[in-house]
Amino acid sequence: MGEKTIQCGNLIGGKWEQRGANGITRLNPANVRDAVAPAPDSSAEDARRAIQAAADAFHPWRRTVPPERGKIVLRAAQLLESRLEEVAQLLTREEGKIVSESRGEVKRAIDIMEYAAGMGRRLGGQTLPTEVPNVFCFTTRQPIGPVAAISPWNFPVAIPCWKMAPALVCGNTVVCKPSPLTPATATRVVEIFEEAGLPPGVLNLVHGGAQAGSELINHPLIRGISFTGSTKVGMAIHMAAARRLAKVQLEMGGKNPQIILRDADLDSAVKSLLTAAFGATGQRCSATSRAIVERKVARQVAERLVEGTKAIRVGPGDRPEVTMGPLVDELRLRDVKGFVDRARAQGAAVVIGGCEPEGLRDGHYYAPTVVDVRPEHEIAREEVFGPVLSFIEVDDIEEALTVANTVDYGLCASIFTKDIG
Ligand code: NAD
Repeated sequence: MGEKTIQCGNLIGGKWEQRGANGITRLNPANVRDAVAPAPDSSAEDARRAIQAAADAFHPWRRTVPPERGKIVLRAAQLLESRLEEVAQLLTREEGKIVSESRGEVKRAIDIMEYAAGMGRRLGGQTLPTEVPNVFCFTTRQPIGPVAAISPWNFPVAIPCWKMAPALVCGNTVVCKPSPLTPATATRVVEIFEEAGLPPGVLNLVHGGAQAGSELINHPLIRGISFTGSTKVGMAIHMAAARRLAKVQLEMGGKNPQIILRDADLDSAVKSLLTAAFGATGQRCSATSRAIVERKVARQVAERLVEGTKAIRVGPGDRPEVTMGPLVDELRLRDVKGFVDRARAQGAAVVIGGCEPEGLRDGHYYAPTVVDVRPEHEIAREEVFGPVLSFIEVDDIEEALTVANTVDYGLCASIFTKDIG
């Protein structure tokens, strides 16, 4: 490919460190011969220094007036907009999603940053009546201190932005720890915030995995943790943070159902199903991974679904004709294959896909897959996080709702019907 390697470093107290240290080497998931970025695998000590820098910067930053903080974030949004295409191309090269999806993600990050910037002029409180004479009762919003932003690889531009932008506008300082699978996009995003004019130490970046991450979770100076990622890691973070009463925000996994009832507009339902299940290669927390279909229309839905799935073009995300990119890495590919193989062994029938596509040997590709399953199969209960849709037939809406609700996850769900009642 011959594209340039991105030298990723940590940003601590306004200084870039360890640029190009190759504790982690990120490869292009569409072509593993393309090394995208070496990045440091930060130690607990690196994380501690970043936390201290965020703590040192906190008091001057909280005293910076909120509209001024908002203006810096707005400037970052404008800078990101001016580099939308460059960042989208990098996102595709590093994470694998197709370029149109990458552009959409960068656009979403810009929208969120603009919204958060406006909070600099809206950070109001309330006045409240009181039964005690001559007492004025009011609430005011205060920053909580240095916070940690820990993010996954699947939206490596939008998720860090939706954590950092509001935290900064509200007067907190931030240590950002992105996924080790997407160091290059994280570096670009943080560079843009820095260029927008954040004072040193207000936003810090440490690359790496659980080693740096757990220091952020357990350090007493970190007052709040915003985490997006797997349910398993999120639960462990919640428990660790609770021990020291740190505030926690968690966004975790899903096993999202789409119910299709007999009276639904089937073309519209299947069109939505295809995008929701296979968009971003199914690597979205909000991906539909269960189609729960009334038996009366199951055959029609299945036929349209197979037809739509056949039309999906799998390949490198930077090719204009491609409509679904690779999985993010070898491990994810192995996981997805494991789910489908175990489903077969449990008696589920693969309707379409269930294999690696022909002729795509350089990346981590898997064909869009539909598996006809029973609700008790593992594949119908656990988050697969890949382009695999479980197809479940049910007798009626009551059974559909029971099946939809009998998994451990809850994130999003939809029902296709013409009967709004
Ligand atoms: P992950 O849980 O493996 O990792 C997420 C982040 O946590 C990474 O930065 C990782 O390095 C860090 N981490 C891992 N172990 C840690 C530890 N012990 N202490 C502190 N930090 C630690 O998740 P992932 O594979 O990167 O992302 C995929 C998951 O994210 C899926 O389950 C998906 O559903 C979920 N997700 C949820 C949302 C949402 O909004 N609900 C959005 C996107 C992704």
